[in-house]
Amino acid sequence: MPDRNTKLRPATIAAQGTGRVAAPYREIVPPIHVSTTYERGADGAYPGGRVYSRADNPSYDQAEALIASLEGAAAAMLFASGQAAAAALFQSLTPGDAVLAPRSMYWALRKWLLEYASPWGLAVEFYENSSIDDLAQKARTARPRLIWIETPANPTWDITDIAAATEIARETGATVAVDSTSATPVLTHPIELGAHIVMHSATKYLNGHSDVIAGALATVHDDELWQRIRYVRGGGGAVLGPFETWLLLRGMRTLHLRVAAACANAQAIAEYFHGHSELTHVLYPGLASHPGHAVAARQMRGGFGGMMSLRLRGGEDAAKAFAARLQVFKRATSLGSVESLAEHRASVEGPGTTCPADLVRLSIGIEHVDDLIGDIEQALS
Ligand SMILES: *Cc1c(COP(=O)(O)O)cnc(C)c1O
Repeated sequence: MPDRNTKLRPATIAAQGTGRVAAPYREIVPPIHVSTTYERGADGAYPGGRVYSRADNPSYDQAEALIASLEGAAAAMLFASGQAAAAALFQSLTPGDAVLAPRSMYWALRKWLLEYASPWGLAVEFYENSSIDDLAQKARTARPRLIWIETPANPTWDITDIAAATEIARETGATVAVDSTSATPVLTHPIELGAHIVMHSATKYLNGHSDVIAGALATVHDDELWQRIRYVRGGGGAVLGPFETWLLLRGMRTLHLRVAAACANAQAIAEYFHGHSELTHVLYPGLASHPGHAVAARQMRGGFGGMMSLRLRGGEDAAKAFAARLQVFKRATSLGSVESLAEHRASVEGPGTTCPADLVRLSIGIEHVDDLIGDIEQALS
């Protein structure tokens, strides 16, 4: 990213996709680099600075620079998915290392930790998302190499105090990584709060249009761990394609507008349905009644995100019937796109789920808020 941009606000840098224009054509939108391989000079050197695009594709440069800039990071790396990004970090640890992860977290990653990372050799233990005491006690006993945080966390949007957790990590010698997918770089800056690594499922808010699977990591230092992660990406080969990278950069140009609109809609919807007779809970960190509200208000700026869950008084059947009656919300998994999505989460997660059966997860999009409120209202009645 050129120096002239360092004082510009993140929304400006994102809108311009870093603002970089490349020689010789001075394109406002970067080209897609499709070549897998690069010419070697007669002297054996690589004058273009690239060898083979499994290691890194020039199409990544601008998108990675933008993510690093938005996170206040030294560097960022793109992956073929959010899962690939998270897996690369865990695989950069050493079998025998201990890892602490939250009890409530993105289901597929929890499953991967239990079914792949544990047999591979990581000692995985779970802490209560919003209990710093529980985290501290487990960190002092297990001496984890890595503490994983997800905040707000799927699917109940529990909040973890990132600054407090990083203090415990410093004391016990752990690295802190934050899955900031639902918080987005617009609302939370984990690195500013002391985290070492930030992870995004770029499939969600960063891309924002339900048309790319991608992941990203960002780091506070380009250190030995970061170089191991780089090797896991290139060596393991879970790399993002150049066209997906280009779409992701295009999506990120409207990130700030999309996140602001989703936050405003979600806050209005949560306030409207809070206390509704058919619901036992509206789980949204922007409501003063949410147990994590005070911490969320400290570590999230400009909104509380676009994710919420509703718990139906009538239990599982009522939750499924509610989802079935929705007309504007699309019934689908995933989150963070411009269109609103609803999901009966427990039946997607399947056996072993920790998600309450009476819960419907809502990803609030950027539609007109009255259409969303009207849809929820008719589906509840
Ligand atoms: C979707 C998601 C992931 C996994 O990302 P993929 O891009 O689907 O691989 C991880 N964490 C959170 C919070 C997510 O929402």
